[in-house]
Amino acid sequence: MITGRLILGDQLHPGHSWYQRVDPSVRYFLIEAHDEQTYAPQHRQKMLGFLAAMRRFAAWLESKGHAVTYVPIGAGVRDLASYVAKAQKDGRVHQWEMQEPDEYRLDAALRPLMAQVVSSEHFMTERHHVAAFFAGKKTYLMESFYRDQRKKTGILMDGEQPHGGSWNYDAENRKPWPAKQPIPSAWTFSHDLRALDAELDEVGLPKWGRSAAEAFPWPLDRTEALEVWNFFIEHLLPSFGPYQDALVDDAPFLYHARISFALNTKMLTPLELLESVESAYRAERVSLSSAEGFIRQVMGWREYVRGIYWAQMPEYATLNALAHRQAMPDWFYTGKTKMRCVSQAIHQSLQHSYAHHIQRLMVTGNIALLLGLDPDSVDAWYLGIYLDAIEWVEMPNTRGMSQFADGGILGSKPYVSSGAYIHKMSNHCRGCAYSVQDKDGPNSCPFNALYWEFHHRHRERLAQNPRIGMVYRTWDRFTPERQHALLERAAWLHEHVEEL
Ligand SMILES: Cc1cc2nc3c(=O)[nH]c(=O)nc-3n(C[C@H](O)[C@H](O)[C@H](O)COP(=O)(O)OP(=O)(O)OC[C@H]3O[C@@H](n4cnc5c(N)ncnc54)[C@H](O)[C@@H]3O)c2cc1C
Repeated sequence: MITGRLILGDQLHPGHSWYQRVDPSVRYFLIEAHDEQTYAPQHRQKMLGFLAAMRRFAAWLESKGHAVTYVPIGAGVRDLASYVAKAQKDGRVHQWEMQEPDEYRLDAALRPLMAQVVSSEHFMTERHHVAAFFAGKKTYLMESFYRDQRKKTGILMDGEQPHGGSWNYDAENRKPWPAKQPIPSAWTFSHDLRALDAELDEVGLPKWGRSAAEAFPWPLDRTEALEVWNFFIEHLLPSFGPYQDALVDDAPFLYHARISFALNTKMLTPLELLESVESAYRAERVSLSSAEGFIRQVMGWREYVRGIYWAQMPEYATLNALAHRQAMPDWFYTGKTKMRCVSQAIHQSLQHSYAHHIQRLMVTGNIALLLGLDPDSVDAWYLGIYLDAIEWVEMPNTRGMSQFADGGILGSKPYVSSGAYIHKMSNHCRGCAYSVQDKDGPNSCPFNALYWEFHHRHRERLAQNPRIGMVYRTWDRFTPERQHALLERAAWLHEHVEEL
């Protein structure tokens, strides 16, 4: 009588209580299902990263004496649910168990086939905690959730008060990159994944983005993830806070941790990262603003978006509050656009399957929202291109924070800006074919006219928002000629979206 325990590609958590003892009646199953590679147009590095890490994890389990069945991509398994059902029907597995899947679609497909579903023992809060925390409230506010988490965990707290007297040091954390500052190096690996890449070719999986198979740079197990993490704590965290919003030509990583893939596949736990950041601060190795800036992202935003996902799914995946319907232009897939900031962000994403938060939010997300792209296509793009993209974290960030398609459940206003913000935070504009100073001419930065036209178009919905009122007061002070010129330019841009 064998109990099969299914391990998903984002459940590579060696500290899970399942693995603390070897049980002869248990067999672990890791399955490389075809559909998991194609449910969005996936970057080749994303496929390679997940599958190579699963293979490592299976080898580790075997080395600890556990029984493992590993089903490689070439075996032709189409989807996980039919494999699970068939194995039980054939009598190979008497009953199935799994850890809570983090994606709604997998939860819906697999839970009914399981005798038992246990916690993944990864997150700091339970799946439905955010929904319960905000029960009866009209809006969800990340800040109140975050403060409550700080109090509960005691991290960066002095009794009931935030350490240092403030909950938030964002004012110290929004600096552009100084002109002469050298670009820090990133901790990297050079795994040879060419054989796996060839297996993916053999089964006909599409190739998108640089595979990097000859020198794959991402961590594939917990030991490697800790190397990336320790490098971050020592060399990057001290400057993480001030420059987390900076955008720099040909420099994708700056002081960012590059830890999201390892964290989302559960090689690391959020709590251990937060404790390690707090220790670095208490040992006076990093400033309070950098420590708090990082802790807010993981304890606050990461847990919060997960809670929103589970509170709102499955309806969340269909929301399109601004009724945006424009098809995504091809340049999102090739990077071939004259807008230098957008081209930089997309090229870096194609190269590394990575972009940092402000590239995702204020460059690609910003232009997608200003152009009114269909949120389904925007979601699919983000879900496919980034190595760290798993729907529970990708979708609230994309559909909610970035595209405002949830009408304000996650964020209180749309994240849009004109070219001025990108000019302030980056060095992209000086090499751009468009002029950021020009507001409405034929060579003007597209972000400029689109920004005003976006607000004009959505006035009915947005004008009442106290956080946006100032934009409308400014627009109303423009002369009719100026308004007309901005709207004309925006209309041209909408009509020629493929040519931008
Ligand atoms: C449109 C859009 C889509 C995104 N899609 C994803 C995604 O699919 N997967 C993903 O992990 N993150 C996503 N993010 C959040 C964020 O951009 C990435 O977590 C971050 O860029 C990962 O790089 P890093 O590890 O170097 O992060 P750092 O900048 O070093 O930050 C440290 C950690 O904080 C956490 N974090 C920071 N911001 C967020 C956030 N808004 N939501 C959740 N966690 C956060 C991440 O775990 C990250 O690893 C998205 C953001 C936007 C605007």
